[in-house]
Amino acid sequence: TVQSANEIRQTFIEYFRDQHGHTVVPSASVIPQQDRTLLFTNAGMNQFKDIFQGTNHPHAEGANHQRVVNSQKCIRAGGKHNDLDDVGRDVHHHTFFEMLGNWSFGDYFKREACCMAWDLLTRVYGIPKDQLYVTYFKGDLLLNLQADTECRDIWIELGVPPERVLPSGMADNFWEMGGIGPCGPCSEIHYDRHGNRDASKLVNDPCSDVLEVWNLVFMEYNRQTDGSLKLLPQQHVDAGMGLERLVAILQGVESNYETDLFLPLLKAIENGSGSRPYSGLTGALDSDYIDTAYRVVADHARMLTVAIADGGQPDYFKRGYVLKRVVRRAVRYATEKLHAPPGLLASLVPVVIDSLGSMYPELRQDPQHIMDIISAEEHQFLKTLKKGQKFLSKSLSKLPAGSKLSGDVAWKMYDGYGFPLDLTTLVAEEHGIQIDMEGYEGARLKAYEVTSQGGMKNLGQLPRIRLDAIDLSILQRKKVKFTNDSPKYDY
Ligand code: ATP
Ligand code: MG
Ligand code: MG
Ligand code: MG
Repeated sequence: TVQSANEIRQTFIEYFRDQHGHTVVPSASVIPQQDRTLLFTNAGMNQFKDIFQGTNHPHAEGANHQRVVNSQKCIRAGGKHNDLDDVGRDVHHHTFFEMLGNWSFGDYFKREACCMAWDLLTRVYGIPKDQLYVTYFKGDLLLNLQADTECRDIWIELGVPPERVLPSGMADNFWEMGGIGPCGPCSEIHYDRHGNRDASKLVNDPCSDVLEVWNLVFMEYNRQTDGSLKLLPQQHVDAGMGLERLVAILQGVESNYETDLFLPLLKAIENGSGSRPYSGLTGALDSDYIDTAYRVVADHARMLTVAIADGGQPDYFKRGYVLKRVVRRAVRYATEKLHAPPGLLASLVPVVIDSLGSMYPELRQDPQHIMDIISAEEHQFLKTLKKGQKFLSKSLSKLPAGSKLSGDVAWKMYDGYGFPLDLTTLVAEEHGIQIDMEGYEGARLKAYEVTSQGGMKNLGQLPRIRLDAIDLSILQRKKVKFTNDSPKYDY
């Protein structure tokens, strides 16, 4: 019998609660409440950062929080962990996903963490052992870190054949929350969809059939502002597994989009757009980008629902600008590729809430508010989308594949038609064309007329100019003061 995503999530939580004495804690908001170094909550450990750093105690507020388990709402769009550009292209990166997490704060360490993970995957969930690979940190010369042979030996003792215990470096096996903060070597568990092959060269190769499922981080260090590593006061475990990937494995499908977390969304998109059904093609096979569009719209509907329920709002500042970009990407795919009428994106909000609302009741609080915000943003963008798309298509059709789109055009798309740069880039890439980034920067600076250091500009007098995170940083770098009465935009 195929288990539902809700059952699979529950099994995880009960395993750590009932068999290993973990306390269940709720997911934190995806909008970080206190942490100014973070755009969105990007991992389960974010809410425990203070405990890792030793500035908060796991026993705070009378609870025994030395062993904790939860399912955390995560967003990886913008910031250090930015997966936005993979979404739609592959079938296992989302902007929003759920991370199943278990933690030890100064309690158990490597051996127990590996044991529990292996036991849960192979015995409880019943994943065949010969389809699993594990990795361990191979050390780093620059940082003077040794290979984690302790971890390697634990896996071999647990019965993983040595040829499936693979060394891996900083990029994949040293986890860091952001530029500074808690970090440490990690050990990952990968799943080989087809099994019984030498996958040693395939682990962490984005086009392979071997998929990363679970990351066990051994938190031992704190990354300082100067880049050096300082030992944390205690050693902790921070283990996170992607629910959508686990569900795909256990439901026997090759794509997260074919699980019960996404299928109702794909159906609703089909019904609401009149497009042909989703067929699951990726890459060059999806030559009309229809399946890509299905994935993007479904993914973005989940992300926006969760982010807005947690208090996010599309605007021109930092995380708000990420939300704006996400709405606009979704609307553009829905309109251009699926020929959907206005309102499709907002109509998906109840479908998302049906699937996630029992786990995250905050989603049920005010669905209408979420739909209103999405509709308003869509409405603004639709005013200029068609004209923008026409202008861009005309500009692109003049260019041979492999050439560059002028920065002036890319800037005009942003400034005149409300296309965030990443969206223009996506459309251009569909034609095999890159953006002249230097030209774009030049056009942008010219528009702001930011010429002299310390100049003063009343942005309120420049109705066509909108602020986003990047623009603000340019102004700050140039020490340009700006007034707070930011202009009202018409889209
Ligand atoms: P990948 O290498 O696939 O990008 P990661 O190494 O960046 O994953 P971690 O930071 O180790 O991911 O996060 C722990 C787990 O969360 C991963 O093993 C994976 O199962 C899941 N995960 C990470 N990013 C995403 C995403 N964008 N969408 C869905 N699941 C994800
Ligand atoms: Mg990643
Ligand atoms: Mg990885
Ligand atoms: Mg990882």
